[in-house]
Amino acid sequence: MKAEQIRQIQARKIKKIINYAYRNVPVIKRKFKDAGISPETIKTVDDVAKVPFTTKEDFARNYPFGLMAVKPEKVVRIHASSGTTGKPKVVYYTKKDIETWTRLMARLYDCAGVTNKDIVQNMYGYGLFTGGLGFHYGAERIGAMVVPAATGNTKRQIMLMKDFGTTVIACTPSYALYLCEAVKAEGLDPKKDLRLRIGLFGAEPWSEEARKKIQETFGLLAIDCYGMSELYGPGVACECPEQNGLHVWGDEFYIETINPETGEVLEEGKEGELVITMLNREAMPILRYRTRDLGRVIWEECECGRAHPRIMRIKGRSDDMLIIGGVNVFPSQIEHVLLQIPELAEFYQIVVTHDKLDRLNVQVELKPEVAQDKNYNLEKLKSNIESDLLSVLSIHANVELMQPGTLPRTEGKAKRVLDLRKKE
Ligand code: ADP
Ligand code: ZN
Repeated sequence: MKAEQIRQIQARKIKKIINYAYRNVPVIKRKFKDAGISPETIKTVDDVAKVPFTTKEDFARNYPFGLMAVKPEKVVRIHASSGTTGKPKVVYYTKKDIETWTRLMARLYDCAGVTNKDIVQNMYGYGLFTGGLGFHYGAERIGAMVVPAATGNTKRQIMLMKDFGTTVIACTPSYALYLCEAVKAEGLDPKKDLRLRIGLFGAEPWSEEARKKIQETFGLLAIDCYGMSELYGPGVACECPEQNGLHVWGDEFYIETINPETGEVLEEGKEGELVITMLNREAMPILRYRTRDLGRVIWEECECGRAHPRIMRIKGRSDDMLIIGGVNVFPSQIEHVLLQIPELAEFYQIVVTHDKLDRLNVQVELKPEVAQDKNYNLEKLKSNIESDLLSVLSIHANVELMQPGTLPRTEGKAKRVLDLRKKE
């Protein structure tokens, strides 16, 4: 599809879904009334800016089933978010929703270059979290051989990869980083003993350095996948092998960027909060969802030939951003620095405290060979890292070098920030 066609589909579908949501979800109808508008107000795509936002709070307020647009008997499945922020968000699907989502996931695999000849080991969590079943259904749909390994038991995961000749892994990037070391600890050569060629990584932000490390260790192509429970789950957007932005499926999602402070729609290509409308949802239509994720969207056709809009890499959530002594700090900036330092392992934690002033502490593990080297000048290493961090963050961070194996490990999303300041 050319960009023009995609925009036409959007214009047609968006009016339909706005009407549908207004008629079937009382909460949405009330929001329209409060804003003094009706579906008839929306004549062109530009009018979408008048539609009230849906927010994370709407999920909490209407927990668990208040956003349902169909009779409960039409719902065939529910999921709930992993709850990294606040209350879990419950989401519901009709048969048609599951079908649409499965098709989107099949597209994701195809876009990444996965085929029916691949053996896909799915190490996302199965259950209420959308990652497991989302990646599972999509892989079956393209006809790949699926190994529903789920999270946990790393030794067994590695054994399965080796014995089955797994060619594609799907998991969080933080777990993939962990696997880089774990495979070597099993006495295996990640390139020679395993046959991995593609990794599908998402559900949390990760840096280019993390990507480089995973790709170089396994000799695979690491593909960034973006999504969230509220919008089906994974499968909202993903990279192609060009690794140059994440294709958002424009016939299913209408994406805008807004100024998070004022809510005003930004020009195409400007960085802001991503706001997404689902164009096809049955059980739970979502209009103008404020994702809290920050990114930039462009509509240029990609080298791969796809004309769907692209998110040029998600910087992180606006609520992940730490304000330390008035300075904005994204955890991804810290990761970016740490992963470039050869003496450090990929396990770190950011701890923010307050005594008179805000203090930023970064705990990071040493590589085993560095930790064992009695003659290593750790003081110098510490001060070098501190000055690298200072040049990127513009504030001082106190670095604590930790012994290998002392920071918590994760099989799902990493919890890297501990904010111990008292909230007023
Ligand atoms: P929760 O909001 O409880 O974490 P989800 O599991 O639905 O629930 O998480 C979705 C969120 O995860 C997104 O809004 C985004 O912040 C983050 N996320 C998902 N995929 C990516 C990605 N590829 N890059 C950066 N962040 C991502
Ligand atoms: Zn592309």
